[in-house]
This record gives sequence, structure tokens and C-alpha cells, in this order.
Amino acid sequence: MNFKDYIRVIPDFPQPGIRFKDITTLINNGEVYRAAIEAIRSEVADMKIDLIAGPEARGFIIGAPLAVSLGVGFVPIRKSGKLPGEVVEASYALEYGKDKLAVHKDAIKPGQRVLIADDLLATGGTIATTIDLIRQLGGEVVGSAFLIELGYLDGRSKLEGIDVFSLIKY
Ligand code: 5GP
Repeated sequence: MNFKDYIRVIPDFPQPGIRFKDITTLINNGEVYRAAIEAIRSEVADMKIDLIAGPEARGFIIGAPLAVSLGVGFVPIRKSGKLPGEVVEASYALEYGKDKLAVHKDAIKPGQRVLIADDLLATGGTIATTIDLIRQLGGEVVGSAFLIELGYLDGRSKLEGIDVFSLIKY
């Protein structure tokens, strides 16, 4: 199956000059969505994963079905102020200004093996912040998996020492 055929590229979104990779056209097709999750699952199945962590919001679309398919728990990484329990937070730079991600303090126990999942790896800023949160809780980041990787933005260089798997490359 050529998964790339199901990604819709939208020019000038959210800003002029950006060619946004829209995954909604892929997940709209049940057969293709399931095949994509299965392809990622088979790639990471031997990594002895305890938990999947996925950043809001599109990380949930990839991470949660992957967790169910592997039979492991899912840890939502959310924007600051959204989680009801005690959290740890980490800041990251956006093009203009800063944003914060948070995770529940009791979501990951020291030594647990965590795989990070998201829809798309661009500059790697989101994933670097997610790694920071998991490590603050003593979790071990065993790898990362993406539906799409924008190779020309070299997000991999921010994830040194961490296994990166992506299904679709641009
Ligand atoms: P990064 O932090 O690696 O620069 O950006 C990745 C994050 O931005 C991901 O969480 C992803 O959801 C979002 N993102 C950036 N560009 C795109 C895009 O073209 N398509 C989609 N679906 N998400 C994007």
C-alpha cells in the first residue's frame, strides 16, 4: 500500500509558504488507517514497550490505536492547563514565543520503557519536549514512531540516540 497517496498536501496552511501534510484523508479510510497502524506496530513490536506517549492532538490519533494494538497503556502529553492531576511541565520554543507541554506525574514510573508516537516529525521540537517530560519522570525513551517525517527539516538531529521510525517520508 502506498500510504503517501492518502496524504493531502495543502499549500499555504497555516501560513503562506507552508505545504501542510493533512492526515485526515488517510484516517478517513478505515482500511488504510488500520494498515498504517499495523505497519508501525510490526516495526516496534520487539522493543519491549511498557507505554506509548503521544502529544496532543494528532499524536493521540496515532499513539492510542498503536497502544491498543500492542496491549500497552497510553500516556497523553497535553498543552499546559489541560490535565486535571499533578503534572510536570516543559517549555518549548515556537516560531513566535513559547508553549508548554505537560504530563501527569504518576503516568510513568521510573524505569518504564516508553515509545513516543506522533503524526509528523518536522523540526523535532515537540518530540524533544516530550522526551524531556518522560525523562523527568524517570521513564526510558526507547524510540519514536511517526506516520510522516519531513526529512528536510532534520528533526532526527534533535533525537540523538533515539530510534526513529517513520512510515512516510518527504
Ligand atoms: P515539530 O515540533 O517537529 O517541528 O512539529 C511537529 C508537530 O507539528 C507535530 O505534532 C505535528 O502534529 C505538527 N505539524 C507540523 N507540520 C505539520 C504538517 O504539515 N502536517 C501535520 N499533520 N502536522 C504538522
